[in-house]
Amino acid sequence: MNIAIVGAGAMGCRFGAALFATGYEVILVDRWQAHVEQINKYGLSVENEDGVHQVYIKAVAPECVNTPIDLIIVFTKSVDTEDMMARCQAIIDEDTSILTLQNGIGNLEVLARYVQEEQLFAGTTTYAANLQGPGSVAAFGSGYNEIMYMGGKRKNGANQIVSLFQQAGLHAGVSENVIKSIWEKAAFNAILNPLCTLTLSSVAQVGSYSGISEVIDGMLNEIDLVAKAEQVDFDKEKVKQTIYRVCHPSMSGNHYSSMYYDIQNRRKTEVDFLNGAIWARAKKHHIKVPHLSLLYHLMKILEQSVCRS
Ligand code: NAD
Repeated sequence: MNIAIVGAGAMGCRFGAALFATGYEVILVDRWQAHVEQINKYGLSVENEDGVHQVYIKAVAPECVNTPIDLIIVFTKSVDTEDMMARCQAIIDEDTSILTLQNGIGNLEVLARYVQEEQLFAGTTTYAANLQGPGSVAAFGSGYNEIMYMGGKRKNGANQIVSLFQQAGLHAGVSENVIKSIWEKAAFNAILNPLCTLTLSSVAQVGSYSGISEVIDGMLNEIDLVAKAEQVDFDKEKVKQTIYRVCHPSMSGNHYSSMYYDIQNRRKTEVDFLNGAIWARAKKHHIKVPHLSLLYHLMKILEQSVCRS
């Protein structure tokens, strides 16, 4: 089996390095030239609890690979999924399986415009990673991956991916309802990421504001209504507990959201696949979502003002 990690940034490098250790043929596909060159010249530097390791994995630009791949794992930001799929047509044939572990609602719909539904697998991950510069990733802590097959003939596919991940030391299990998990994770991110970004605050600073429950509960109630209208089995109480737990200063310390860093680096954020995706579905169902809508539009104004493209 050959595997391509497409979008080999923080998460792609972490997962790519772990899968490479199993002995399977794994390549990193990324459009960032300096990163690709650094990995090919000096290896990928992976820092974790055991120290810093050089992983001699191959990296390529999307245009430079044309062999069909058995398993593609998509780890671009949601906003780049479409561009990535357009550039990666040469490595996809009818036998290719495609797994997205990205955050956000709508990635599957983008992927389904390019391949058959029976080729698609979706999941969520609680692993985390940070890029430290070209060819260098920090991969601390552990996590869990939920994986589900989205329809068609490859009934065993999700089990095979789970077993592959386990061989790589990545905890994983087959999910019966990954859409629920995707929505619950998206709700968490749709609430905390724009709040941190727009207020220039860490998660703990947002959580310690005395009026924060009015904002969090207001948004969560709106997302719950939209999820129900979309027939998603959304567990509002579970998401609420997670948000309040993570917002506690003892949990999050000085942590800032990835959306905050995207804006600091003048990059487009994933807001269209979080607040934007929920807002669009609210409109479709004629559901009023004033909190969600305000944060979405404020984020879009901020993107318009500061982002390069
Ligand atoms: P990242 O920005 O570090 O990496 C994305 C990579 O994709 C970049 O290296 C970029 O050059 C590459 N890319 C963009 N467009 C491309 C294209 N058209 N072709 C090839 N490569 C392209 O992002 P990340 O932090 O690794 O996040 C990836 C996804 O995983 C996101 O959806 C994110 O929300 C999710 N996620 C991240 C974390 C985390 O801790 N970083 C945790 C859970 C989930």
